[in-house]
Amino acid sequence: MISVKHLSKAYGDLQALDKVSFEIGSGEIVGLLGPNGAGKSTVIKLLTGFLQPDSGTADIGGVSVMADPIAVQAQIGYLPENAPLYPELTVIDYLQMMADLRGVPPNQQRDSLADAVYATGLEKRINQRIGELSKGFRQRVGIAQAILHRPKLLILDEPTVGLDPSQIIEIRQLIKRLAEHSTILFSTHILPEVETLCDRVLMLMNGQLRLDAKLADLAHSTDLVLVLDSPPTDVESSLAKLPSVAAVVAEENTFTLTAEGEADLAPAVFECAIQQKWQVRELRPDVRSLETIFNEVINT
Ligand code: ATP
Repeated sequence: MISVKHLSKAYGDLQALDKVSFEIGSGEIVGLLGPNGAGKSTVIKLLTGFLQPDSGTADIGGVSVMADPIAVQAQIGYLPENAPLYPELTVIDYLQMMADLRGVPPNQQRDSLADAVYATGLEKRINQRIGELSKGFRQRVGIAQAILHRPKLLILDEPTVGLDPSQIIEIRQLIKRLAEHSTILFSTHILPEVETLCDRVLMLMNGQLRLDAKLADLAHSTDLVLVLDSPPTDVESSLAKLPSVAAVVAEENTFTLTAEGEADLAPAVFECAIQQKWQVRELRPDVRSLETIFNEVINT
């Protein structure tokens, strides 16, 4: 659905993006993560044809964004960081105006509006002025305008920024529902948002792509942590002798084991602990959280 190759963009002397490449397949929900100023909005503006890159290419659905931004924009639903809404318009008048602007054929507008209003839960607000809505509902209106033309790809720039916790949960649920029919790329600097919503994470730092990984792969680990009460002195050497153990690191009563390849160490460690009569407090996979990975990325 999205293919980005060596995309670079500078603002004057500032290299905002530096040879960024990634691919996003149909149906994926991908979080673009990074601290303030990392380059997230720049990626999004390049993908949506609002900016031209200095070098590199971006294709969406096989069409070059640079060569034919209008054709690409017709395939995309875009929620900018500060969606330009018209506070004096009612929700329905605004969505009607956006359907006209997006070229939704007149005979399809009724259904498109009804679907967008239903999908975003705006049924009871359609006759209210946008300026009178809470921020969470205004964000829903922004998302409704993005899905009016039933795009296969939704690009959302920080969709939950500035919302209160309950509004955040609602917008996340809405994104999850929309993901049933569309590919979604959204930017955020909120780690739990990525953990709850995404299949994949792209992590930017100083304009460079530092991580491109599936959440399931990040959560997968063959390393094991064993925590004992009052460990005897020979624990480390006993663990090191077990089959497929590549390394053991001991720190007070905590022993971290690294496996050879994809070996599952848990059964042998468990067996050994029973035989040696160790008092086991914990035996768990050594999974690094997204927060740990994020900190590693921003500190390297
Ligand atoms: P945030 O989370 O704060 O929105 P971001 O990851 O979206 O940040 P960008 O908005 O892409 O980051 O900005 C990347 C860098 O480029 C930042 O240092 C920013 O100050 C700079 N920048 C962005 N737009 C412009 C511009 N129009 N002119 C000059 N510098 C810009």
